[in-house]
Amino acid sequence: MKTSSRIAQLKPSATLAVNAKALELKAQGKEIVSLAVGEPDFPTPDYIRDACKHALDDGFTRYGAVPGLPELRTAVANYFNVMYGTSARAEHTMITNGGKQALFNLLQSLINPGEEVIIPAPYWVSYPPMVQLAEGVPVAVAASAEAGFKITVDQLEAVRTNKTAVLLLNSPSNPTGAAYSREEIDAIAEWAISNNIFIISDEIYDQLVYAPAEHASLAPWWEKYPEQVCIVNGLAKSFAMTGWRIGYVLAHVDLIKAMSKIQGQSTSNVCSFAQKGAVAALTGGFEVVDTMRASFRKRRDLAMSIIGKWPNVVCPVPQGAFYLFPDVHRLYNETYPDSAALCTYLLEEAGVALVPGAAFGDDNCIRISYAVDEKTLEESLNKIARILFG
Ligand code: PLP
Repeated sequence: MKTSSRIAQLKPSATLAVNAKALELKAQGKEIVSLAVGEPDFPTPDYIRDACKHALDDGFTRYGAVPGLPELRTAVANYFNVMYGTSARAEHTMITNGGKQALFNLLQSLINPGEEVIIPAPYWVSYPPMVQLAEGVPVAVAASAEAGFKITVDQLEAVRTNKTAVLLLNSPSNPTGAAYSREEIDAIAEWAISNNIFIISDEIYDQLVYAPAEHASLAPWWEKYPEQVCIVNGLAKSFAMTGWRIGYVLAHVDLIKAMSKIQGQSTSNVCSFAQKGAVAALTGGFEVVDTMRASFRKRRDLAMSIIGKWPNVVCPVPQGAFYLFPDVHRLYNETYPDSAALCTYLLEEAGVALVPGAAFGDDNCIRISYAVDEKTLEESLNKIARILFG
């Protein structure tokens, strides 16, 4: 069947190959554990689910305003104001189908054909394809494990051209868990603003930063330069609400209007009763988030206590999110010469599913999610170690 050239240039999701193999092995009766997941293993807290159920029972099931439920937009504005000291109002916000649609809307609204988007690598899998769908050119800038997976202003300056339109930052990062410090973020922001480069800051893991590290948001820069900065966030990771599809954006009103045009011609409003649940999440206190953060932190420490001892593996301690991204390239051999082959090998031999670093623009690494209970995590990592190191 004929499909568009747009589809031909899109890479299929690299994580699908691992999933397909894992399902095949499971069907053969093999025990497979997945450390490949990108979602919290906790249930969505009760009071959030209850708010959604009440909305359904009250018949809150109709079309709504494209940029979101007014009370949710107000709750989002308050979130930024309380957390990051901004003076946002509802009109500076928009509710989207996950952080993913926020990013999609933004790139569609900001990029002209041929314009370049700088993406620090390792990067989240969907960034380059989304830039391509907006007819932009993704420009990856690599940061190694030795550099803590953080890029510098000098690296950014080296790839800047007169076509550079956007810098897409993600801190804390999926897949590395790296979180930039306030000084690092400020230096990058200063560079971008002074070069008239728009910053999209994907802060979907802002609530999952482990002390003593603190989340350095770009929100204060939005306050000063609303025409050059926007923030993407959502409830998936912080409130264990991946399936609800609630994302949001903090941006200039003109950009909100532009994104509303895109969303209005594609998906319209986000599910009405899910938005009611989201209001309960953002206005119900952050104790549940604190509890989940504490669990993730324990798991990170547990995982690091095991991986930190693996010979010839470099794994910077992640400061946020729920992933480890060890550099394992010194282990590559004829049987597993790259990250995809190593992940297939570990799936077959250890029964543990991981995601190859190549999917995130770094073939030296593999991504390990610790969004699983401590026992599963410990057992799976020990299984991997037995297979790799005997
Ligand atoms: N940004 C990053 C860095 C992510 O890891 C994810 C999800 O994995 C998203 C955005 C999108 O999240 P969602 O669309 O589920 O809100």
